[in-house]
Amino acid sequence: MAESKQPDRMEKVVSLCKRRGFVFPSSEIYGGINGFWDYGPLGAELKRNVKELWWSEMTRLRDDVAGLEATIIMHPQIWKASGHVDTFSDPMIDCKTCKGRFRADQTGEIPCPQRPSKMVTECAGEKTQPRPFNLMFKTHCGPVESEDNVCYLRPETAQAIFAQFKNVLETSRQKVPFGIAQVGKAFRNEVTPRNFTFRSREFEQMELEYFIKPDEAVEAISGSVAEATGEGHPGEPQPSWGWQLWHKYWVEERLRFYEGIGLPRTSLEEYWQKPEELAHYARATVDILFKFPFGTQELEGIAARSDFDLSQHERHAGKPMGVFDDDLRAAWTRLPKETQDALWKRYHDARHKYLIKSGVDAESAAATARNDADNLAKGKYIPHVIEPSAGVDRLILALITHAFSEVTETDDKGKSETRVILRFHPRVAPIKVAVLPLLKNKPELVAKARGVFELLRGQVNTYYDDSGSIGRRYARQDEAGTPFCVTVDFETLGEKPELLDTVTIRHRDDARQERLPITGLAAWLLERVR
Ligand code: ATP
Repeated sequence: MAESKQPDRMEKVVSLCKRRGFVFPSSEIYGGINGFWDYGPLGAELKRNVKELWWSEMTRLRDDVAGLEATIIMHPQIWKASGHVDTFSDPMIDCKTCKGRFRADQTGEIPCPQRPSKMVTECAGEKTQPRPFNLMFKTHCGPVESEDNVCYLRPETAQAIFAQFKNVLETSRQKVPFGIAQVGKAFRNEVTPRNFTFRSREFEQMELEYFIKPDEAVEAISGSVAEATGEGHPGEPQPSWGWQLWHKYWVEERLRFYEGIGLPRTSLEEYWQKPEELAHYARATVDILFKFPFGTQELEGIAARSDFDLSQHERHAGKPMGVFDDDLRAAWTRLPKETQDALWKRYHDARHKYLIKSGVDAESAAATARNDADNLAKGKYIPHVIEPSAGVDRLILALITHAFSEVTETDDKGKSETRVILRFHPRVAPIKVAVLPLLKNKPELVAKARGVFELLRGQVNTYYDDSGSIGRRYARQDEAGTPFCVTVDFETLGEKPELLDTVTIRHRDDARQERLPITGLAAWLLERVR
C-alpha cells in the first residue's frame, strides 16, 4: 500500500466528515449558521470517547481531583468578577464596501458565507478603526428584557469551578493540593469563525482547576520550594513543589494524555508565552499546539493563574475563599523569626500588588494585605491555581486530521483505487469492532455472526454489517476508523473441526489477519481498546 500526503488535506477531511457522518453544518437545510456544527453518528461516538477518556484520567484515576457539572447560565456577577464583562473582547473592524465585520488581528481569509467550511479571500474595501467587541452571548433571564436581567452564556467552564470551590472542598474531603474538573459547553460570539470546527461559536471545553498552596506556605512547611531541574516530566508530586513544578507537571501530564490517544509528540508543539503576552494575573502560560493542515495552532492552554480567580470571587461575592491548612499552622510556629518575617512580607507584597491592580483603594489594599499576611501566619491562605484548559472540538479535529490517510491499491488487472483509512488510536475510535458474516445469504453464518455481535455490543461499541462484498465492508470500516473487524466464516461453523467457534480478526492498519476463539474475543478487544 502506497501512502500519500495531499496538499488539500483539509478539504478532504471536511468532505469525509460530512460523507461519513462525523460533522455536519448545523441547520444545514436552512443554509447553515456560521460557527455552529453538529456531530453525526460517528462524530458523536468519537467525541464521547474523548470526553470520557479525559474525565477518567483526570478524575476517576486520580485521588486528588473531583468532578463538577455546573449550569451554562450563571449569576452575571461571575463574569464581572472574572473580568469577562470588561475585557473579554476582540478588536473588530467593519468594511465600508462589503459591510462585512472582521477581526482586526485576523485579516486575509474568512469563511465563505454560503459554505462556512470553505475559506474565501476577504474584501479589500476600506476598513474602520478597530474597536473592542465583547465575545459573550448575552440573553435575558425571565420574561422581561431589561438591563437588570441580562445574563450570559458562559464563555468558559472554568468560572463555575471557582464559584463552587468551597462547596466542592467541603463535600469531597479533598485538601489542597487538589483539583476540580469539568467538561461542558462554552459559547463565544467569535467575530470570524474559521477553519471548520477549529474556531466555533458553540464548542466544548475540558477544564481542570488544580489548586495549590502559595509558595510561601510550601516554603514554611518544607523548608524550601523545590527547583524545577531538567527536561521532561518531574515525576510524582512532592510536598515541596511550588507553582513552577506543578505547572511543569501539568504540561507533561497533558502531553502524555495526547500521546495516549494517538497524537505523538512530533505532532505537537509547546509554546511558552512571552512575558508581554501573558494575561496580567498569569505567571506562566504554555500553549500546546497541534500541527493542523491549516497551520500550527492552539489545542490547549495551561496557565499558572496565581490566586487571582478565587480572590476576585472573594471580593465580588463577599464570601471567604481561603482555606485553613493544619500543616502550615503547625510549621509556622516552628520557623525562626526572620523566616516568618520574610515569608510574611513576600505574601503581603503579592497580595498588595493584586489588590492595587484590581482597583482597590490604597488604604483598603494596605489593610487587607496586612490581614491576609497575618492569616498566612495562622495557617490560612487563598489557594493558587494551575489551569489546563482544552477544547474538545479542536481535539476532535486534530484526531481526525492526524488519523486521515489515503492508500492507493492496484488490483490484478492494473486498476488503481485510492481510498481513505482513518488510523484512530483504538481508545478513541468511534466503532471498536465490526462483526461481519462472510455471506449474507447463509442463515447459519448470519445467526452465528448475530450471536457474536450480541456478545460484544455490551462491552464495546460494535457494528454489524452484512451488505456487500467482504472487501467493501472492510473498506467501509477503514474509512470509519474501526481498528478491528471480526469475520464469521464456514470455519467458525466447524468446516474444519479444529477451527470450530473461532473467527478471523482483521487489523485495520496493516490488513493483518489472525484467528481467535469466540470465547476470548471480548477480553482480547478490551485489552486493546481501553
Ligand atoms: P484562541 O486564542 O485560539 O482564541 P483562547 O486562548 O482564547 O483560544 P482559551 O480561552 O484558553 O482559548 O480556551 C481554552 C481552549 O478552549 C482553547 O485552547 C481551545 O481548545 C478551546 N477554544 C477556545 N475558543 C474556541 C473556539 N472559538 N472554538 C473552539 N474551541 C475553542
